[in-house]
Amino acid sequence: MTQEELFKVLVAHCKEYGYIFPSSEIYDGLAAVYDYGQMGVELKNNIKQYWWNAMTRLNENIVGIDAAVFMHPKTWVASGHVAAFNDPLIDNKDSKKRYRADVLIEDYLAKIEEKINKEVEKGRRKFGESFDEAKFRETNPNVLREKAHYEEVHGRYLKAEAANDLAEYRQIILDCGIVCPISGTKNWTDVRQFNLMFSTQFGSVGDEANTVYLRPETAQGIFVDYINVQKTGRMKIPFGIAQIGKAFRNEVVARQFIFRMREFEQMEMEFFVKPGTEMEWFSKWKEQRMKWHVNLGMGAENYRFHDHEKLAHYANAATDIEFNFPFGFKELEGIHSRTDFDLGNHQKLSGKKLQYFDPETGESYVPYCVETSIGLDRMFLAVLSHSYKVEQLENGETRTVLSLPAPLAPVKAAILPLVKKDGLPEIAREILRDLRCDFNCQYDEKDSIGKRYRRQDAIGTPFCITVDHQTLEDRTVTLRERDSMNQVRVPMAVLKEKINEKVNLNEILKNL
Ligand code: ATP
Repeated sequence: MTQEELFKVLVAHCKEYGYIFPSSEIYDGLAAVYDYGQMGVELKNNIKQYWWNAMTRLNENIVGIDAAVFMHPKTWVASGHVAAFNDPLIDNKDSKKRYRADVLIEDYLAKIEEKINKEVEKGRRKFGESFDEAKFRETNPNVLREKAHYEEVHGRYLKAEAANDLAEYRQIILDCGIVCPISGTKNWTDVRQFNLMFSTQFGSVGDEANTVYLRPETAQGIFVDYINVQKTGRMKIPFGIAQIGKAFRNEVVARQFIFRMREFEQMEMEFFVKPGTEMEWFSKWKEQRMKWHVNLGMGAENYRFHDHEKLAHYANAATDIEFNFPFGFKELEGIHSRTDFDLGNHQKLSGKKLQYFDPETGESYVPYCVETSIGLDRMFLAVLSHSYKVEQLENGETRTVLSLPAPLAPVKAAILPLVKKDGLPEIAREILRDLRCDFNCQYDEKDSIGKRYRRQDAIGTPFCITVDHQTLEDRTVTLRERDSMNQVRVPMAVLKEKINEKVNLNEILKNL
């Protein structure tokens, strides 16, 4: 499935089952802004809880905060966002469409890589068992030609990026013959910088001095609150501050469903350490964060690190955790060693001391910081796109199922009386009352049992409990498991325990 086809299917599924709606849809929506529906909010809350508990409960030296979206405008001067939070933009004069120049070049490079891989696959088919991939890559003239071209363009691109050379971006686009996907022409404007922060007016006077920004990342809320938390919480270095909250970016290329939104949520943790120990902590957090992901059971092979060659101005080490989305490996989380860049700059601009006094050594210093930053919506998309399956059943039918990790599923159990009479609804409601304080449950008595199972499969409910006439006699029910579709007869009295084993978030938190 191409990215476009997949998004179409997912968007339709998400809408049909109350996961995600386009924002203000009755007015035809708002580009790259989405609402989470009745199922979506539950999945999102469960992801948040998994992250929050892993950070703040499993680490006695990490505490959480919830800072405001609006911050003093100087915050964004100190953080570098006013001067440097830009995307290089280019317009096609024929289609009037706007693109990120860097993304056009990166897509072009990815296409060359694809060509090389296709050539290798051709070779593999041709030579069969005796195929030596490494040798083929070193000797095949087509591969060598594409590789040389890749290296030449990649080299120019890295240089242009490092020097922020906008004219060179344009020249690369022209030299490579990159065309607009809509108009098919090379009629490009110059490349310009575009700041991604949204601004608005604070108070009633609309002059420049009252301009505030909607925060483009949650991290700065942590940095400006650092000294308050450290002092009031009597925190000792090393310690961390975690936060979940909204961030806003006026993204230019925002045609990727919830992968790239203009209003999104981040889960960020800043870990403050003694200067000189940051690399140790950087490695530790790399390992910890990968463990958190893999622990969900979506396949270790679907994650990889992508270490940054070119570091942001504030970082001395950086890596991304990439996830194998159906449209390829893409960034899901960033882990950065940010040095004392943020605290140092806030100290300078505010004139307030943001130093830590180490009671053991008697030294004072501005701490260094290692950041873990994951997009909640991107995590949602990773879980959803990985879980979405259309299965061919033995009886020739198909079923659409969301094989969500059970602790994240919005509804944990559905309680279904086989028929709407004979006292079955009453017993079903008795079970509901018994389970609903422990798990989010649904009661459903409408349509055939087969249809009801399908509805629960489509929203990813791990268990269905069916109440039938035998239940009246011996208080046993059928417990159906979503992925295997296996059905077992169990006493009503063991339901809570059986469901809990699979769906309790604490069970997976224990493995971290
Ligand atoms: P990208 O390169 O994809 O634009 P980034 O490197 O700018 O992302 P960071 O600033 O490191 O991203 O933000 C941390 C995390 O926040 C990202 O790993 C991603 O999961 C999430 N994120 C960033 N921008 C968006 C967005 N526009 N929509 C949804 N999630 C986002």
